Amino acid sequence: MAESRSRSKSGEIQNHVGGRWKAPTGESGQDVVNPATGERLAYTQFSSVADVDEAVTEGRKAFEEWRSTPVVERIQPMFELKGLLEENLEELTEFLVRDHGKTRTEARGELRRGIENVEVACGIPTMLQSGSLLNAAPGIDESAVRKPLGVFAAITPFNFPGMIPLWFLPYAVATGNCFVLKPSEKVPLVASRLVELIGETSLPDGVVQLVNGGPETVTALLEHEGIAGISFVGSTPVARHVYETAAKNGKRVQAQGGAKNYLIVTETADIQFAAEQTLSSCFACGGERCLATDIAVVEESVYDEFAEELLAQARQLTVGYGLEDGVDIGALIAPDHVDAVREFIATGISEGAELLLDGRGLSVEGYEEGNFLGPTVFGDVGPETVLAQEEIFGPVLGLMPAADIDEAIEFLNGTRFGNAASLFTGSGADARTFRHQADIGNLGINVGTAAPMAFFHFGGRKNSFFGDLHAQGEDMIHFYTDKSIYIERWPDA
Ligand code: NAD
Repeated sequence: MAESRSRSKSGEIQNHVGGRWKAPTGESGQDVVNPATGERLAYTQFSSVADVDEAVTEGRKAFEEWRSTPVVERIQPMFELKGLLEENLEELTEFLVRDHGKTRTEARGELRRGIENVEVACGIPTMLQSGSLLNAAPGIDESAVRKPLGVFAAITPFNFPGMIPLWFLPYAVATGNCFVLKPSEKVPLVASRLVELIGETSLPDGVVQLVNGGPETVTALLEHEGIAGISFVGSTPVARHVYETAAKNGKRVQAQGGAKNYLIVTETADIQFAAEQTLSSCFACGGERCLATDIAVVEESVYDEFAEELLAQARQLTVGYGLEDGVDIGALIAPDHVDAVREFIATGISEGAELLLDGRGLSVEGYEEGNFLGPTVFGDVGPETVLAQEEIFGPVLGLMPAADIDEAIEFLNGTRFGNAASLFTGSGADARTFRHQADIGNLGINVGTAAPMAFFHFGGRKNSFFGDLHAQGEDMIHFYTDKSIYIERWPDA
């Protein structure tokens, strides 16, 4: 991979602080490895408490001038960033595939979703406005204004390294805050390239900093008194820890956790279409999506027909290196992650589910070092099993029969997560029941993956979300600003 300012000659990923690239000074680190080829791409040196402190200090210095910069000027770098991301889309796509393992189409789609957030943030002069009222009392006018709060940080996961930083960064900056990004130590390359591109815009130095690292770096961010708020996306145990620790340290916090997503197929659904959508919902990105469906709950009257259709389609999927044409499922992030997914498959067998398609024997020619696993499908999964209740984060789908939609919704609502669910149906009445009764943040109807576009917030409930204001859209404006009230009277002289 070509050398760049964001990596040292030996491949060490650099931090970006106060407009300068510099090496993190933490004591440990880890290799960044292409999950499909096993090739070492770079090295993430972790940031120390001092590195985090320097990043926050630079942000606080930049904040005074940045928050006073007119909002129309603050959004110009976002227009520039949108152009740069479009121009460099194919290069970023390739970075993402090498770093993460997903396919080229998936990587491109992810970046598109990220760019959408930059586009939305360009409209912040309108979104930032608050209410005002003339003659609220005799001779008194009142108005509310939104003010930025200082330096915010985002801690992001490995599975969408191109999109998730952009759920936060554009909104933080356009609302007048400064920002520290701590990407996943497993996949730091796309974030580095993103920050390089930001360096080509007119954004002043110090408004955006990049600090690389792992849990210790996160702790330093959570405890730093100069940080006003934390956005987190990752697994449930860490999300809960981040939520509690950031709150204890007096910060605003939004923490998105792990998920287990379900899909219901009723007897009035278009079965072939539902199977097609289920397939992509489960197996896209190798199942490493917080919106991936792991369980399809199917009405008994169409269960066999649906299973047959789904298996016929699943057998056609090609697993391989995401940069090659014709690949449907890329590599999983790391060997220990493959082991964890294999363990789930073994558990499914021991729990008595019927293994209808086994992806464990797969080897990809030419990429024997890759972290590959083929699509795996279980039938007759019981509602109280590990397979039905725990997040797998791999290409494993379970089918569960249900008597009717009420039984299916009751099962969904009894689970620990509440990120996304979809319903496939031809019945408006079923759709209405689902919308009203499913206790889930993102609901799809005849849509396999209920991923909201950037102008809507990204829902999530129960163990999938800790906080109140979500990522993306208008919620971000509320998270990144506080409202002041102006009450004015101007008596005649
Ligand atoms: P992770 O929790 O291991 O890591 C996420 C971030 O937390 C990383 O930046 C990592 O450095 C940091 N971290 C890890 N362990 C930590 C610790 N003990 N203390 C402090 N910080 C720590 O998650 P991951 O494996 O990178 O990502 C996959 C998970 O993220 C899945 O559970 C997935 O469902 C979830 N996810 C959720 C959403 C959502 O919107 N709800 C979106 C994407 C991913």
